Amino acid sequence: MLQLKKIVFILAVFFTVFLSSVSFASCNLDQNRWELVASNNKYSAYLDTQTVKSFGNIAEAWICWYFPSNCQFHTTGGEHYHYNLFAINYINNTCGLKSYVNRDRNGSVTDSHIFPNVDYRPIPPGTVLESIAIAAKKRT
Ligand SMILES: [Zn+2]
Repeated sequence: MLQLKKIVFILAVFFTVFLSSVSFASCNLDQNRWELVASNNKYSAYLDTQTVKSFGNIAEAWICWYFPSNCQFHTTGGEHYHYNLFAINYINNTCGLKSYVNRDRNGSVTDSHIFPNVDYRPIPPGTVLESIAIAAKKRT
């Protein structure tokens, strides 16, 4: 009976450790620098609080989207990161992408691009883009 209790205890410890390592085998961004802006069951979006810039009514901010598994664009490889440099225009409430860098779970760059022109699109209310715009504004 004592033996069984020991086994149950060991299993309980094992599963506790296993579960906590699963939940912590996650986003490796420095939480002091990257502010959580939005998340759902597919991603967490973080604002780089150290690099937000403003030029008049335009703000530029890096957002990192952490995907614990594949995303709609990357259907293999699992856990990875999308870094997006957004330009946000607070006059007409639009935003566009200036550049992006994708990284794998180890931080190695898998893809990157700089857009020669920013294609500004309206920021729909109640969306993650609006949350990003609000969070960036607070840092300018
Ligand atoms: Zn992806």
